[in-house]
Amino acid sequence: MRIAVGQLWQETNTFNRNPTTLADFQNWGIATGTDVLEKFGETGELGGFVSGTRQWNSPPELVGLARFLCWPSGRINREAWEAIQETFLKTLDVAGHVDGVLIALHGALAAEGEGDVTGALLEQIRNSIGPEIPLVGTLDLHANVTRRMMAQADLLYGYHTQPHLDQFETGLRAARGLRLMLERQHRPFKYCRKLPMITAAESHNTFTGPPAPLYRRLEQLEREPEVLSAGLYMAMPWLDCKELGWTVTLHTVTEDERWKTVVAEIAESCWDLRSAISDVERYGPNEVVAKSLGHGGHPIVIGDGADATNSGAPGDSTVLLRELMKQQPIPHGAMTFLVDPKAVIHAEQAGIGGAFDAFVGGNFAPEFSEPLRFRGTVERLLPMQFELNGALGRKMPVQMGRSAVVRSGDVAVVFTERSGPGSSPLLYETAGLKPRECGIVVAKSPTAFRADYDPFVAASFIADCPGCATPNWSQLKFQNINQPLWPLQEIANPEEAEWCR
Ligand SMILES: [Zn+2]
Repeated sequence: MRIAVGQLWQETNTFNRNPTTLADFQNWGIATGTDVLEKFGETGELGGFVSGTRQWNSPPELVGLARFLCWPSGRINREAWEAIQETFLKTLDVAGHVDGVLIALHGALAAEGEGDVTGALLEQIRNSIGPEIPLVGTLDLHANVTRRMMAQADLLYGYHTQPHLDQFETGLRAARGLRLMLERQHRPFKYCRKLPMITAAESHNTFTGPPAPLYRRLEQLEREPEVLSAGLYMAMPWLDCKELGWTVTLHTVTEDERWKTVVAEIAESCWDLRSAISDVERYGPNEVVAKSLGHGGHPIVIGDGADATNSGAPGDSTVLLRELMKQQPIPHGAMTFLVDPKAVIHAEQAGIGGAFDAFVGGNFAPEFSEPLRFRGTVERLLPMQFELNGALGRKMPVQMGRSAVVRSGDVAVVFTERSGPGSSPLLYETAGLKPRECGIVVAKSPTAFRADYDPFVAASFIADCPGCATPNWSQLKFQNINQPLWPLQEIANPEEAEWCR
C-alpha cells in the first residue's frame, strides 16, 4: 500500500501588506519527493503521519509529495502560489498510483487572487487522485474551514490545543482516520456548521480559557467508536476572505440525526461564549510598561498581540520599544525583538562593541508604527537559528536569518533579518540574553507565549497597541468577508447570517 504525504502550512494575515514569497518558503525549507520525509519526517504533523502509519498492521510505503512551510505573514504572491501548485501536481504525477493522501495544511492561507488556498489545493489533489482515493488533511485550530475544504477532503483533523502543542498528535489522529477509512472502505459522513463570529486570539486558550470545556468535549467525541474526527476551529480573524468565521465539524462512520444535534449543541455553546472570549484585559503601551514596572516581581512578559509574528504581523512595531526607552530605569533590564534587516546590516557595519545609531522598525507596516531612532552598542552578531520545541513546533527548524543584539541603557533589542516565532524565549536565549532573569520581556504573540513563558514569569500583561493583528476591528478594513459577522455587526442570533446556513 502506498500513501502520499505532503505539507502546505502558513497562516496569512491579509492586513499585512508584505507578500509571502517563494524565498520565504525556501528559507523554511522546501522539500519534494523523498526529501519530504528524510528532512522533515520527525517534524510536527509529518512526524505524526510517519509514526501513525508505522503502527498499522502492515505499514504502508510513504511517498513524499512536497513540503512548503513558512512563518505567518501577508498573502502568498502569485509566483509562489503557482510554484506550489505546479510542484504538488508534478509530484503527484511522479508518485503514480497511491492508495491515500495525508496532507498537513493550515486552513487560513490566502494568496493573491485566491482567498482559500487550502480549499484550492485540496481540490487540485482531489482532481489528480480521482474521487475514490481517500484524502485526509490536518488543519490549524485557527483554520477558516470553507465548504470547498469540507467537500474535497474525506476527513479533516484540527489541532485541539491552543497554545498549539499537538501538531504531532494531530498527524497521528489523521493517520488513524485514514487507516479506518481504508479498512472500512467507506466514505465518512460529514457534518459542519459555520458561525458568523470572529474573536481575538488572547482568550483562545484551550487549557485555561473559556473554550476549554468544548475541546474536552471534542476529545470525548473522538473516543466514541462512530466518530472519526471532531473539530472546532476558532478562525484566524485577520483574514479578509469569504466564509470567515468559526467552524464546528464532525466526521463519522454513521449517518445519524444525533450527529447534527451534537454539532448544533457545540455551535450554540460557541455562540454563547463569544463575549467571554472577546473580553480581554489589555493595557495601552504606556500603561502596560508602567504596570510591569510597578508589579514588583520579575520577569514580566508583555504579549504584544497586534504585532504578533505568530499572527502574521511583520514584527517591526516600535510602539512598545518607544515606551521601554522612555520608562527607564528598568530593574533587571528589558528585552524585545524587531524584524529589521536594515538594522542587522547597520549593526554588522558597526561591528561588535561598535556604536549603533539608526532609525529602526516601523518599516513594514507604516500605518501602525513609525521608525524610532535607536542609539546603543552592538553586543552580538549571530545567525538566528534554533529548533522550536514548544508552542507551534515540534522539532521544527527555525531560521530567522542574520541577527544582532544592540543594547541601549536597560533595553536590549534583538534585530532579526526575518520573521519567526514571537512566542518563544528561545529567540532571546539563542541571542545570549536571559529572559528568565530579566525585568521585562516582550513576546510578539497574543497567547501562544503562555506555553513557554508561564512556567517562569512573575506575571503577564496583554498590550493594546496598533498593528496588523489588532483586535480593535474598527481599525481594519474588511472588504471581502461574508456579512453579517459578529462583532463587526451586532447579531442576536447566528441564524440571521444567511451565509452560514
Ligand atoms: Zn493557530
